[in-house]
Amino acid sequence: MEIFIYMIIFIIGALFGSFCTLAVYRIPLGENIVYKHSFCPNCKAKLQFKDLIPIVSYIALRGKCSHCGEKIRIRYLLLEVLSGLTFVLCALSLRMNFLTVDIRTIIYFTLFILYFVSLFIIAGIDQEKMQIQKSVLIFGMVLSCIYMIYVCLENANVQSIYTYIIYLISIIVLLVVNIVIMKKKSYENYTIQILLLSMYMMIFSTSALFYITAIFALIGILIANLNKKQKPVPIGFYLCVSNIIVIIAYNFLCNWVIK
Ligand SMILES: [Zn+2]
Repeated sequence: MEIFIYMIIFIIGALFGSFCTLAVYRIPLGENIVYKHSFCPNCKAKLQFKDLIPIVSYIALRGKCSHCGEKIRIRYLLLEVLSGLTFVLCALSLRMNFLTVDIRTIIYFTLFILYFVSLFIIAGIDQEKMQIQKSVLIFGMVLSCIYMIYVCLENANVQSIYTYIIYLISIIVLLVVNIVIMKKKSYENYTIQILLLSMYMMIFSTSALFYITAIFALIGILIANLNKKQKPVPIGFYLCVSNIIVIIAYNFLCNWVIK
């Protein structure tokens, strides 16, 4: 029974992964991510339902477009599998038992799943274009506010409320600075985008876990640059990947080891 439910979670995760690949491709182009029909980027043929099943379609088509035979990037498959695994690991790390699960755990799980999805999209776009899209950050801000309300309702202590207020003020200041710079230079400042991303991460992972995330990200950047192939470093990409790993590892530690 449990395994069956975890399989469903994996499939939902893979579906979200499929959505992420679409978002990574479309958001930088300013295209609609909800209404427009999916198409092959090479021959522009509309994809049919059988081409849209995550993982299964990729294997059935042997990684090629069914119309023009253009290779589909293996990255799409990887992202779908990784997304599915992340969802399952997140549920496992919270020790979700589906017979006794309570509403608090479900809300917490949902919020973090949405958080991870936003990090997937940020990482994907940053790795390709070296930028963090404002629309994804704004989604993040809305999600942050919901999360902060949830935390304050759960265990309202004055200190955490103060911390969140400071984060919120910092985010607003950064957003204003970003807008001012944009007007002056007519492009967006990558440093400010990274700072905004960091604030977003601090809200969801507390400052202590964020420091660990930053250290992991730095190690990742150092290793990736040992062979000096990568020219500009997509810092956001490394931060996102590290943050997802750190949060899930921390939840495993809290719910499995310490308990
Ligand atoms: Zn095609």
